Amino acid sequence: MAYDQELNIALMAVKKAASLCSQVQQTLITKETIIKKDKSPVTVADLGSQAVICHELQQEFGSDPIVAEEDIDTLQSNRDLSNRVHELVAGQLSKITHAQMIEAIALGKQKVDFTQRYWTIDPIDGTKGFLRKEQYAIALALVDHGQVVLGVLGCPNYAFDPNQPSGPGSIFYAAKGQGAYAQSLDTGKQRTITTDSINNSCQAKFCESVESAHASHDEHAQIATALKISAPPFRIDSQAKYAAVARGDASIYLRLPRSSSYREKIWDHAAGAAIVEQAGGRVTDFSGKPLDFTCGETLEKNVGIFATNGNIHEQVLAAIQSQINTVER
Ligand code: AMP
Ligand code: MG
Repeated sequence: MAYDQELNIALMAVKKAASLCSQVQQTLITKETIIKKDKSPVTVADLGSQAVICHELQQEFGSDPIVAEEDIDTLQSNRDLSNRVHELVAGQLSKITHAQMIEAIALGKQKVDFTQRYWTIDPIDGTKGFLRKEQYAIALALVDHGQVVLGVLGCPNYAFDPNQPSGPGSIFYAAKGQGAYAQSLDTGKQRTITTDSINNSCQAKFCESVESAHASHDEHAQIATALKISAPPFRIDSQAKYAAVARGDASIYLRLPRSSSYREKIWDHAAGAAIVEQAGGRVTDFSGKPLDFTCGETLEKNVGIFATNGNIHEQVLAAIQSQINTVER
């Protein structure tokens, strides 16, 4: 199958990164200490996760460019921090040297022709959820001539078994034309996932960011009212929202930025969007246009993003257009 080798490597890399991030998250002390005084646990996990994924991609697909969120600057001036990152990365990749780790992180800021083939990584999406010991995701996608052909989301706190909410987390993935899957991060057990089958938006549950600074909860509520949705919003950090839609835990994901000048980052959407689409759903911007991954690090041409189970996409689009003036944004 097309992209089989890419998928194998991507899954292996994200699993290692997820293991590193879980290890760091488990050692976070208290919410207060971290948020007020010490953000370094985030930094070490972000950079460690990026190092692991970039290194594994480089080994197998050395000529593919990578666009990742983090840069190397924080480490250059802080040897203690970089030693800690190296210790974590070496826990996953036993032979990696300090210098190779630095090189791997720096691979994420290459010059890229976004109209060609490239990988994009968010080493920890949903940092605020990570700090609260709630949801976060390790996101990796392959974009080929503007199409997201592969998406992997490691979600260490998103239970694989919905009946066992505190059980092992999940890795969600999809490759073009091959459907979408969830796998237990613990046992490797896996199953196909699909969006839910509701046809009437009044039965929908929608998800949105926990952080009200990241999306306009008020305008989402207006859209929900227009759709006659009675269920309260399902608030969950990171691209775990896309996973929620892909496996039918929610029928809609709404994301309208608060600020009209904000443009979404490619690494915050590529993996999740591919998984929803392969699970039978749809993802567009608030005008109904597909997401354009060829413009650069941001989705320059897309304002407001929503994902649905597919069936109710047009209903949601109509409600958005009746409530939100996207032209002025
Ligand atoms: P979420 O957990 O869905 O709220 O999303 C986390 C992502 O929100 C981060 O990876 C950031 O890239 C992104 N983000 C940061 N600031 C903003 C903002 N002002 N508006 C929208 N998204 C943002
Ligand atoms: Mg992110």
